[in-house]
Amino acid sequence: MSTVPPAKVVDCVVIGAGHNGLSCAAYLARAGRSVLVLEAGARIGGAAATREFAPGFRVSAGAHLLHSMPLRLRTELRLEAHGLSMAAESMPTTALLQDASALVIDAAGGAIEAAAHAAYDARMRRLAAAILPALLRTPPRLQGRSWSERLEWLRLAMRLRLLGRRDMRELLRIGAMNVFDLLQEHFESEALKGALAFDAVLGTHYGPRSPGSVFTLLYRLAGQAAAGGMGLAQPKGGMGAVCEALASTACAAGAEVRTGASVARITVEGDRATGVELQSGERIAARAVISSADPKTTLLCLLGARHLDAGFVRRIAQLRTRGVAAKLHLALDRAPAFAGLDARRLRGRLLIAPSMHYIERAYDHAKYGEYSAAPAMEITVPTINDASLAPPGRHVLSAIVQYAPYTLTGGWESGRARFLELALGLLERHAPGLRESIVATELLAPPDIEREFRITGGHWHHVELALDQFHCLRPVPGASRYRAPLSGLFLCGAGCSPGGGVIGTAGRNAALQVTQETH
Ligand SMILES: Cc1cc2nc3c(=O)[nH]c(=O)nc-3n(C[C@H](O)[C@H](O)[C@H](O)COP(=O)(O)OP(=O)(O)OC[C@H]3O[C@@H](n4cnc5c(N)ncnc54)[C@H](O)[C@@H]3O)c2cc1C
Repeated sequence: MSTVPPAKVVDCVVIGAGHNGLSCAAYLARAGRSVLVLEAGARIGGAAATREFAPGFRVSAGAHLLHSMPLRLRTELRLEAHGLSMAAESMPTTALLQDASALVIDAAGGAIEAAAHAAYDARMRRLAAAILPALLRTPPRLQGRSWSERLEWLRLAMRLRLLGRRDMRELLRIGAMNVFDLLQEHFESEALKGALAFDAVLGTHYGPRSPGSVFTLLYRLAGQAAAGGMGLAQPKGGMGAVCEALASTACAAGAEVRTGASVARITVEGDRATGVELQSGERIAARAVISSADPKTTLLCLLGARHLDAGFVRRIAQLRTRGVAAKLHLALDRAPAFAGLDARRLRGRLLIAPSMHYIERAYDHAKYGEYSAAPAMEITVPTINDASLAPPGRHVLSAIVQYAPYTLTGGWESGRARFLELALGLLERHAPGLRESIVATELLAPPDIEREFRITGGHWHHVELALDQFHCLRPVPGASRYRAPLSGLFLCGAGCSPGGGVIGTAGRNAALQVTQETH
């Protein structure tokens, strides 16, 4: 224990100014707590930041589409009043196919199997709505004895019961199933099945045939239901604008946000977290320390295993945290032209996932430490909706490229250039002439994502999103209610319930726990 007195004393220190850390800070400050947010990076936003990647070209460096942030959170925190607006909402999806044609994917009347798609979509949204409380609320413990926890289980049971017999049976049947089998039951078109399956595996270590991939699809659809009908959206100014608005609302309520402030360790006295020490040596005392860094970073690096029970440490160390999604950014001197695509469709997102077999084959490589020979992609051209992101007449292409395993055989140092070349070759086949228009490129493989956003393994969800790492099991039993097993220490990042994506609920729920426990 150091004898140096802390330079500053606050009620709450929040580690990390990603969107969850900022949402947590905003709720805590509005509840009257003095709050200091410490961000190691030079800017706020974490994996939801906008930054320049080539002179004059800006991009959402991690997340690029907003679809799961609950309307309630956006309203409670008055994000619009704090500057958040959308450059586009309800962005349509178009699948790019191998024969240089394109397929419009729209449940409300797409080009193919329209009636079957509408019926499937309506049912999946009903089923997803039933799991909504599990996404929005603090998970009760399996054997939680408090009335609030019993009520929470009851609430979940009621939502399932209200589905009615047929839908309830269907949810139980498909809940742990793979999306490949589910979509085979509903559709003929390989192109439609490929596009629908990709949403189930985006950001996860899953292929369409992986058991549990229906659950990840329901998770995404439930998030969209909570977001209140905005569909896929592009914030004006990029994803960083969400975090700017969160920081603004937090600061208006009295919170302080510091960048370039890397936390070296969480200080402990007796059996309680008492504050943090920065890399600079500065110490800050706090009644509550709330970390949005991933669970391995928070508990094993910043706190240290010696303060935790050996079994708990083992469970944290075993969490699956290796990312498989890479991010590709292109600076272009003109708008890209995709074969067979009406230019207006560039306002939406484009998918390269022409069939479920294509995605599964792409995934096969990742299982053995290779990148996909033919990757799947989610592509946006954000400058079509928001010209402020590039110099006049110029454009940005932002793509999530799967699969790119964190641990690549031969290493990413030599692998990055080859994977970039492969991704550009694939894009060129769909958009002939694209290469000639490229001014600058950037490819972030999972180790780059780990370095830039300080996420162990560079995983989209911090901790793999799977049934065994969800709800009351997330990140592990014993820390599922945002409380670490050390008094005064809380978690509030994507590694907690409900999981990753730009949602903000983990931050909100953690703040509620902290306010209940620190009067
Ligand atoms: C490539 C990629 C694409 C994605 N695309 C989408 C998408 O389109 N839509 C979507 O909804 N989601 C997407 N996601 C997921 C989403 O970006 C994340 O799940 C979400 O941003 C996590 O937010 P967070 O606040 O929990 O954590 P983070 O954003 O990871 O923030 C944690 C913060 O803590 C800071 N930190 C860590 N350690 C310390 C320390 N010692 N001291 C101080 N600060 C520290 C970090 O610097 C970081 O700023 C994507 C993710 C990736 C990686």
